[in-house]
Amino acid sequence: MTPDYAAILATIHAEVQPLLSEGKVASYIPQLSTVAVDQFGMALYCLDGSTYEVGAAQQKFSLQSITKLFALALAFSREGDAIWARVGREPSGNPFNSLVQLEYERGKPRNPFINAGALVMTDILSTRFVQSDVAVLQFARSIAAEAGIDFDLTVAQSERETAHRNYAIAHLMKDFGNLHNPVSTVIDSYCRQCSISMTCAELAKAGSFLAQHGTVPWSGLQILDRSSAKRLNALMLTCGTYDAAGDFAYRVGLPAKSGVGGGILALVPGELAVAVWSPGLDATGNSLAGTYALERFTTLTARSIF
Ligand code: GLN
Repeated sequence: MTPDYAAILATIHAEVQPLLSEGKVASYIPQLSTVAVDQFGMALYCLDGSTYEVGAAQQKFSLQSITKLFALALAFSREGDAIWARVGREPSGNPFNSLVQLEYERGKPRNPFINAGALVMTDILSTRFVQSDVAVLQFARSIAAEAGIDFDLTVAQSERETAHRNYAIAHLMKDFGNLHNPVSTVIDSYCRQCSISMTCAELAKAGSFLAQHGTVPWSGLQILDRSSAKRLNALMLTCGTYDAAGDFAYRVGLPAKSGVGGGILALVPGELAVAVWSPGLDATGNSLAGTYALERFTTLTARSIF
């Protein structure tokens, strides 16, 4: 039986209100700290084409690490299993921007969703496309059917000016031979890629091909074969919410990818994609109210992959 999604979203919207002041907006990217913390939006894109939304679901926000999912999907669709020679598939158990494992694991990042792994994806795409960030943007526009999706160049510039950790990660990988393009090219492209902005409604639609086994539901365009889509879902579950992935799987029970802009995209395979946004983050860099909203969503709808 289809749950009453409209009623469930209204319930969640009311329930998250006390949490909206508890999280902290990301401040290491100065421009992100200008966003008001007490905002919340949520949108569903069901595979039958029906949509539901509540709160600020039409408000644009910075996707940040959620773009790592689109970069990975693009790289995986073009390069296939060759990417695994340069990046692993294990959770890191460390913060997304940590350098410690990278040194003793000789420049091979644990997975494509930590910054080191995402920088390798940018490098792979930079070899293949004239500008990897533009390739990811065009990919995002095509899967969301929204030509208006764009970079936020103020955010990109703000990140680039303070990207000391990402430069350090990139230089370390360059030294180990796991970055083929110049560090500056990779960081510039990565910062622009991370600055792509979407609304919750756009993000849910953009992610829906991963809920429909790799095929865009409204156009029938196959982005990934069924097996590859299953594998990306597995990576989202184990690595998509940084070092909180275990707790997220326990509480929410869905494959998901989060970003420090406060967004989270989660999938109910075969049924729907759900996007949530609230810029206040918890200590692991995941949206505090967003994670709670998804936890309530899977509880109230009795949805889970388990
Ligand atoms: N652009 C951000 C960074 O590299 C993305 C991090 C995130 O969303 N977790 O730090």
